[in-house]
Amino acid sequence: SERLVVKVGTSTLTHPNGKLNLQAIDQLCYTLSGLVNEGKQVVLVSSGAIGVGLGLMGIDERPSSIPQQQAIAAVGQTQLMTVYQQRFAIYGQKIGQILLTHDVVDYPISHQNVLNTFENLLQLNVIPIVNENDTVAVDELDHHTKFGDNDQLSAIVATTIDADLLIMLSDIDGFFDKNPRKFADAVLKSKINHIDEQTFEGAGGQGTKLGTGGMTTKLKAAQKMLNAGKSMILANGENPSIIFKLLQGDPLGTLFQ
Ligand code: ADP
Repeated sequence: SERLVVKVGTSTLTHPNGKLNLQAIDQLCYTLSGLVNEGKQVVLVSSGAIGVGLGLMGIDERPSSIPQQQAIAAVGQTQLMTVYQQRFAIYGQKIGQILLTHDVVDYPISHQNVLNTFENLLQLNVIPIVNENDTVAVDELDHHTKFGDNDQLSAIVATTIDADLLIMLSDIDGFFDKNPRKFADAVLKSKINHIDEQTFEGAGGQGTKLGTGGMTTKLKAAQKMLNAGKSMILANGENPSIIFKLLQGDPLGTLFQ
C-alpha cells in the first residue's frame, strides 16, 4: 500500500489573526480520510500548536522566552488535537497522536520503537498525527540547533517509515527562484532534482510571523527526501484538497524528485 506523509504549516491551519482556519482543517481531514479509504497509509505532521495557543490565549506575538513558548504550545497542542479529533470523526477516521523528540534520531532503540508504533497505527488504518514534543524539545523553538522544525521532522518521519512521498503544504504556491514576497519577478520552479548552495540562496528570510521555518527548512527537508531516493511536493495549502490533484499528477507546486 502506498505511504504518504503530509505536513501542514501554521499558515494553513490558522488565519493571520491566530484563529483556527476551520474550513481548511475540515478540508484537510476530509481529504486525508478519503485517501485512507482508497487504501493509502497516511501520516500527518502538523505544526500550529504555538499559533493555536496564542490565538486561544489572546496573545498577539510569540513570547520571547522558551518556557513561555512551551506553555503556549502545550495549550495549543491540546486544542489542535481536539479539533482534529472532531473533524476526522465526521469522516469516520481514527487518529493517534505522536509527539517526537530528537531521541528518535539519536537512539536506535527509540527509533525502532517509534517505527513499530507507526507500523501498527498504519496497519489499523489510523492516521498518526505528529508534532515535535515542544514541552521537552527546545531545539524547535529557538531553532539554532540540529533539526527541530516540523519541515525537517516531516522528512525524518517520511524516510523512517519509508514513505514514497512527502507533501508539504504551505502558504505559497511552491519554491520560487527567489522570495516572491520580496521580488515581483520571482518564478515558480515546477521541478527540482538537485539541491545545492545556489538553491538555498533563493530561500531568503524566515517566513511568516507565526510559522517558523521559512523556505530554508523546506529545502533541507526536500534534500533529505532526495538523498533517500524519495520525492517531495511543496504546494499551497489554502485548499488542502489540492492533495487529490497532486496525487493525480497535476503539475501544481514544486516537485522535488
Ligand atoms: P509554513 O508556516 O507553511 O511552514 P513559512 O512561512 O515558514 O510557511 O514559509 C513559507 C514562506 O517562505 C513563504 O510565504 C515566503 O514568504 C518565504 N520564502 C522565502 N523564500 C522563498 C522562495 N524562494 N520561494 C517561496 N517562498 C519563499
